[in-house]
Amino acid sequence: MSVFRVQNTLSRQLEEFRPLEAGHARMYTCGPTVYNFAHIGNFRAYVFEDLLRRWLKFKGFRVTQVMNLTDVDDKTIRDSQKAGQRLAEFTETYKKAFFEDIRTLNIDPAEHYPAATDHIPEMIAIIQKLVDRHFAYRSDDGSVYFSIARWPSYGKLAHLDREGMRSGVRIASDEYDKENVADFALWKAWDEKDGDVAWESPWGRGRPGWHIECSAMSQKYLGPSFDIHTGGVDNIFPHHEDEMAQSEAANGQPFATYWMHCAHLMVEGQKMSKSRGNFHTLRDVLGRGYSGREVRYELLATHYRAPLNFTFGSLDAARTALRRVDEFTARLADAAGGAKAGTLPGWAQAAAERFEAAMDEDLNVSAALAALFDGVREGNAVMDARLMSPEDAAAVRDLFRRWDGALGVLEKPAEAVPPEVQALLDRRQAARAAKEWKQSDALRDEISALGWIVKDTPKGQVAAKA
Ligand code: AMP
Ligand code: ZN
Repeated sequence: MSVFRVQNTLSRQLEEFRPLEAGHARMYTCGPTVYNFAHIGNFRAYVFEDLLRRWLKFKGFRVTQVMNLTDVDDKTIRDSQKAGQRLAEFTETYKKAFFEDIRTLNIDPAEHYPAATDHIPEMIAIIQKLVDRHFAYRSDDGSVYFSIARWPSYGKLAHLDREGMRSGVRIASDEYDKENVADFALWKAWDEKDGDVAWESPWGRGRPGWHIECSAMSQKYLGPSFDIHTGGVDNIFPHHEDEMAQSEAANGQPFATYWMHCAHLMVEGQKMSKSRGNFHTLRDVLGRGYSGREVRYELLATHYRAPLNFTFGSLDAARTALRRVDEFTARLADAAGGAKAGTLPGWAQAAAERFEAAMDEDLNVSAALAALFDGVREGNAVMDARLMSPEDAAAVRDLFRRWDGALGVLEKPAEAVPPEVQALLDRRQAARAAKEWKQSDALRDEISALGWIVKDTPKGQVAAKA
């Protein structure tokens, strides 16, 4: 079995993954800023992180993943005010939508989803430590800034040139570019733009900066040092640089060992983003008749470090690829019948080895999928020649199930029962409870006229697409 190697943004090198705690991978993922529906560019990052956690599990690691919810920052405050809602009420809508969307995309849930507003005391404690150690200072207006001059390794993640840094100059906003490297805000004194969003602190009323949120939530659930920190490449600077500086300065120990960043989902050569307005939410795409599974395939199938250009044409290609998989797995199931799995036939064993070696090389999913589709081609040829024994077919079916543990896209999800069919099912259940068998049969006919088959099992009615 080969070892898993990842491209570490910190070292700019491919490194073998070795967790701090044997057998246990601990990862932190910057989660959504809940001020809008996430767009499919954001989901490229979450699907990449899901692929990573699934691959770690495939390799036998226990995984603890933390994904935060940024429910207080410049953007959430600004847009809740525009909407005329209180911050918590406003962000609740988008938190709920986010969890619905990740289910649609078959993203496995993280172990923890902390919300920033539930962790203000933890943030204040880190800021206090930084002030006590003179890495941070209070400005005249009651804000607290991290002093980059006091931290010589500032810039090591984003590979900044220290010459150009303007220490002593302060930047209050959460997002800024490399031309504006400066002391950044840990705590922002209240001003009228914040409305009723404020907490008491040793420095006066105010609210946390965005970066300190992730330092506090990662430390609470993973400890001061953990294995992998992930996000999109736009997070490297300033967000991750600032997270790393303040966490390491406060704790005096390394923060994350490996930093992994995915490239952007692009639209006609530009990053898909809310501010550019060139985005599609997952809901828009589903509304055009594509499934969550097709979107997942599209986001997954390109190596995470290669930019991916989004078009509806590429979603059609995802549909075609998945249809090939479905035809093959249906054929395999027929060939396997009720047989027990034997050993993998040689061609499938070769595909299995290629798949694993590719994924082990920094999640090279495009090469892994090439191995998978070669397997489909060869498997079809073997079945065409009637040379697939039921035991072989069952073994190949099990291989696909194992692969799907890693990819989360091969198995066709059961189609959701539409409301009109559900209503008939409910009436039929009531009829059966009342022993009105004629009525029950009539309802079965109505259900079948809508293209659904109902079966009566010991656990009750089960409906499936005809
Ligand atoms: P945000 O809600 O803006 O904080 O972003 C959430 C996550 O989505 C972060 O990890 C970003 O790096 C990532 N992200 C934002 N836009 C894109 C994009 N176009 N392609 C890939 N990832 C993105
Ligand atoms: Zn973060």
